Amino acid sequence: MKTPQEVPARPVLHLLFTLLALTGCQEPGQGLNRQPDTRPAFEPLVAMETGPVYHVLDGYDPIWMERVREGIETARAYWGSYGPTHVWIAGSYEGAEIDPAAKRAFVEEYCGSCTFPNGMRLEDCAGYVESRFLDVAERDESEAYLSYLQDTTPPRADLVFINIHKWFFETDPVPDPTLRGIHEYTHVFQSSFGSTPTWMMEGGAVFAEAWLPVQLGWRGLHGVMERCMESARRVTDPSMSIADMEDVDSAPGKTIEYYRELAYDRGAWAVAFMIHTSPTRRVSALRDEFYPSVTELGWEAALSRFVGMQDKQEFYAAFESFMGWPLEEQLTLLDDLKD
Ligand SMILES: [Zn+2]
Repeated sequence: MKTPQEVPARPVLHLLFTLLALTGCQEPGQGLNRQPDTRPAFEPLVAMETGPVYHVLDGYDPIWMERVREGIETARAYWGSYGPTHVWIAGSYEGAEIDPAAKRAFVEEYCGSCTFPNGMRLEDCAGYVESRFLDVAERDESEAYLSYLQDTTPPRADLVFINIHKWFFETDPVPDPTLRGIHEYTHVFQSSFGSTPTWMMEGGAVFAEAWLPVQLGWRGLHGVMERCMESARRVTDPSMSIADMEDVDSAPGKTIEYYRELAYDRGAWAVAFMIHTSPTRRVSALRDEFYPSVTELGWEAALSRFVGMQDKQEFYAAFESFMGWPLEEQLTLLDDLKD
C-alpha cells in the first residue's frame, strides 16, 4: 500500500488550499508542501440543512462512494450539517486509462456553473481538474483531502477522494475510506466556526475517527488510541510539543519532520485530554460549547474557558505532564469520557 501524502490543516485556509487526510497514527512520510502565509481573512462555512453533493467519476465502482458517504454522513449526523460541501470521488484501477467521455463528464460537473470558482476560466478549470483529479487517478496514487475554496460564492468545501480503494483491506474493522470520510467531514465542521490551531484540527479529526466508530459499535477505543500514543511517543525530544504545531507553516526547525506525530497523534490525545479536563467530560461539549465559543472568543480564550485554565500555556504544560504518565493510566482517562 502506498503511504498517502499528507498536508496538515492550517489554522487559516485559502483558495484551493488542500488539507490532506491522515487516517490516525500511521508511519511518518515525506513531502510537505509549505505555502507562504499570504492568506485572506478566514471566512467560515455555514450551518445548512442541505447535505453534501456527491460526484463520482463514471466507471469508478460506486461502492467507494458508498463507503466514503457512510463516514461523511456519520460525522455529519454527529457534528451537524455544514457547508456548502461537495464530495468528489475518482479512481482508476491500477492506473488504467480513464474513458475520455467519463473524463469530460467529470470536468463538466466540476466546472459547471453551480460549482465553478469565481474568476477561474473554463480552460483553466478543465486543466485544474485534469491535473488534480484525473492525472492523479491514472498515476495510481491515492489522496484524500479537504480543499477549501474561498473564492467561490459562498465559500465551499470540496472533499476529494482519489483511488481510495487502495486503502481498503477486508480485515479492517472499519473500512479506511469510511474513516477518511469521518476525518474530512470533521474538518468541514471545524471550518464553520473560526481559526483553530493545526494540532486541534488534525487531532480533532483523528480523535473523531476513533470516537465516532465506538459510538456505533464498530470497534473499540483503546486499541486505536494506544496506536496514536505509540506514534506520539516517537517524538523523544522534550523541546518539541503540540505548541509547535499551532500553525504548521511556521513550525520551528526540525519539528516539521514530526508534524504527523505532533499534530495528528499527540493532537488526538490533546483533544481527548481537553475533553477530559472540561467539566462535563462530554465529547458533545466540544461540539455544543467549545466550537461555538471559538467564534465568540477566538480559540485561545475558548480553550482556556473550556478546560478552566488561565491560558493555553497552562493547558500545554498540563498536557506535557500527561504525556509522561504510564500508558495504562493514559488509557484509563478514555474510560471517563462520555458522549
Ligand atoms: Zn486532516
